[in-house]
Amino acid sequence: MGELVSIDIAAMQAETVVLWMSEVASSVSAESDHLTQLDAAIGDGDHGVNMDRGFTAVGKALAGQGDSVPPGQLLIIAGKTLVSTVGGASGPLWGTALRRAGRALGKAPEFDGGALVEALEAAIEGVRELGAAAPGDKTMVDALVPACETLRTAIESGVDLASALAAAAEAAERGAEATIPMQARKGRASYLGERSVGHQDPGATSSALIVRALERAVTQEA
Ligand code: ADP
Ligand code: MG
Repeated sequence: MGELVSIDIAAMQAETVVLWMSEVASSVSAESDHLTQLDAAIGDGDHGVNMDRGFTAVGKALAGQGDSVPPGQLLIIAGKTLVSTVGGASGPLWGTALRRAGRALGKAPEFDGGALVEALEAAIEGVRELGAAAPGDKTMVDALVPACETLRTAIESGVDLASALAAAAEAAERGAEATIPMQARKGRASYLGERSVGHQDPGATSSALIVRALERAVTQEA
């Protein structure tokens, strides 16, 4: 009978963060050409290379950390690594996001779904302070905001973490697709004005990969 009991994942730990970052690295590496193509259409064609370089460096930085480093601290290290290895806008933006998320988690050895929501909200706040993008501006914010709102609603209504993250990842993917008809108002793509319409935003696309990677990290650990 024991094997029929469904596993209810309630808490995430340092290992979850390490696994998340390694899932992001594999995913942005596999999608690097696609991300670069999207960026070639409305930017300078380096987004895949930027994300790949950054998250490969994050993987190396985290591999050197001891077992007792709390998850929040690991996210801060990941964020600092992105800032120092990625030249494009996505480096400081994701660097800030992960550092803010890490700071929100503090020194606790574990965090639950509620704390994850708080951390993601802090991350988005950091991105919006730095880049001044609002929803609808055709940026990573358009994937992250719906993902975070969906996650909050799911967690607050008692949905298990894995399902809540699956819903959040889907919301991020839909949010990235919804950038296609938008005109860019922030970042390099905004220089194109109306010509940015009709293309999916590269940063929103990679943001959806990052949320999907978190779902995979959490479900793999169980
Ligand atoms: P760069 O534009 O410097 O070449 P990247 O190509 O790595 O950097 O990243 C581009 C992505 O960064 C965009 O698709 C967009 O999602 C995101 N981005 C750019 N500027 C902003 C901003 N001000 N606020 C939020 N996101 C932004
Ligand atoms: Mg670019």
